[in-house]
Amino acid sequence: MTEAEPPRYDVPSGKQVVPADVQVHNESQRVDVTWADGHTSSYSISRLRGYCPCAECRGHSGGPLSFIDNQVSAILDVVLVGRYAVNFKFGDGHATGLYRWEGLRRLDPAEVERWGPPEQYR
Ligand SMILES: [Zn+2]
Repeated sequence: MTEAEPPRYDVPSGKQVVPADVQVHNESQRVDVTWADGHTSSYSISRLRGYCPCAECRGHSGGPLSFIDNQVSAILDVVLVGRYAVNFKFGDGHATGLYRWEGLRRLDPAEVERWGPPEQYR
């Protein structure tokens, strides 16, 4: 028996980026994502809310992401959307953002050098 090939994540387009686990910690106001490549991303909830990719937050021109200042400190629900994205229901009631895996990975402050700042993501 041979071991399965480990997944590869060497493409900036991020098509192969998938999470193995998503954990919300409202007490510390953070979300931790463990990725299938072994990397763990830790986000403040306000960072995820601030970079919400939905049309309402980005403007209907569909421009690049920009950070929206907010005080959101809780996530009420997490819903996986197909195999490609996650949806967060935030404490302020906002729940229209679909965070595609590659976009979510880009929001990791520890990964800016590799993936570029979220503002460059379309
Ligand atoms: Zn939004």
